[in-house]
Amino acid sequence: MSNRAIQSIRGMNDQLPDACDRWQTVEQTIREVVRLYGYREIRTPILEKTELFSRSIGQQTDIVEKEMYTFTDRNQDSLTLRPEATASCVRAGIEHGLLYNQAQRLWYLGPMFRHERPQKGRYRQFHQFGIEALGWPGPDVDAEIIILGTRLWQRLGLADIRLEINSLGSPANRARYLEDLRTFLESRHDELDESSRRRLTKNPLRILDSKDSGTQAILGDGPDLASYLDDEDQRHFDCLLEHLERTGVEYHVNSRLVRGLDYYTGAVYEWTTASLGAQNAFCGGGRYDGLVEQLGGLAVPAAGFACGMERLVELYSQQRSTTEMVGAEVWMIMLGDTAAAIGYPLAENLREAGIQVVCNCGGGSIGKQLRRADQNRALFAVIIGDEELENRRFTVKPLRSGEEQTSMTEDRLVDFFLAQRNRDYSVL
Ligand code: AMP
Repeated sequence: MSNRAIQSIRGMNDQLPDACDRWQTVEQTIREVVRLYGYREIRTPILEKTELFSRSIGQQTDIVEKEMYTFTDRNQDSLTLRPEATASCVRAGIEHGLLYNQAQRLWYLGPMFRHERPQKGRYRQFHQFGIEALGWPGPDVDAEIIILGTRLWQRLGLADIRLEINSLGSPANRARYLEDLRTFLESRHDELDESSRRRLTKNPLRILDSKDSGTQAILGDGPDLASYLDDEDQRHFDCLLEHLERTGVEYHVNSRLVRGLDYYTGAVYEWTTASLGAQNAFCGGGRYDGLVEQLGGLAVPAAGFACGMERLVELYSQQRSTTEMVGAEVWMIMLGDTAAAIGYPLAENLREAGIQVVCNCGGGSIGKQLRRADQNRALFAVIIGDEELENRRFTVKPLRSGEEQTSMTEDRLVDFFLAQRNRDYSVL
């Protein structure tokens, strides 16, 4: 048997402890913000029946056509690792009767799987945080979701964020537009770029997304989606934009904005940033009024967004400097067996009071142990050596502030460390 080291699967990343610290901060902020708006968490399985996605996302989309991790299990059922979670939330809502005579404000966070070409910001296992509001037809809930997102980006300190928004109109109007768009593009078939030609028969709406400048110029001569909206579509969209204006949310209407999943109807939007390179969209969403019915439920209106966590954490990390990352509150240095006999129970007393203590394992000279504390970015070292044992006072050495070391008796330690909380180490 080979003893070669085994590597992770391409496009599926480990998150090491430093990264996890940042993920946890972002996740904590998400939890705080969704709570402010009354959204409640839902957790659904990572594996679902393949049909759930083929019926919702759309047979002709990139995701269903070529990106899903689909396999037959031991019972010969076709299963798929979820490529997104909206379909699962809707399935769970129908299955558990959450949508009968009631509406639901839900959020989720977890891993998703798409077999795409891995590059920066695009992975095969990635994570999405998402919002789903099931049961409200009006633009007020679309606005609420966008305002929630905006508050979250602000709380995370993100700068240079741009919100682009469009309306796809009702399914009937969108279908009329699609027909005309297809006819128009077929008449210009030979001038289109290659990938747009491929999309023409399968999913012409996605051609609006094309990065090719020639194709974009051709689209300028074609039918304009906005002129297909009827009064009701237009009223919904205007009302949403008014809500945003009243709340001070900046937006840019982009009549070419479409989404990669078929189930969207009405308002759609995307947040982009210049700080992420090619993968500049980090969150996208909209209204999907037909989806619940399409998956076997009642006609329940719905809206939501999905945000890529890898991209969000990257944006958050760009605003933070490494000096803000701090390690344990206390690094316990024990020199000799007698010191250890006192030090370990003392560490437990401090932990009992909620103070984070890392005991130096493996011994070593005081210099070596202090270096280890420093490498681990500990805030303070507590040193127990012969002198400390004799005086029954412990040496407390600040490691990040450059302040002088002090010594104190055990009964003062807890209060001392608690009083050090809330110091901003980023300014030191
Ligand atoms: P979607 O579900 O395709 O509308 O995507 C919503 C968000 O999920 C995007 O804006 C990205 O931030 C993120 N996302 C989608 N696909 C990937 C991927 N392969 N790798 C990383 N993030 C992704």
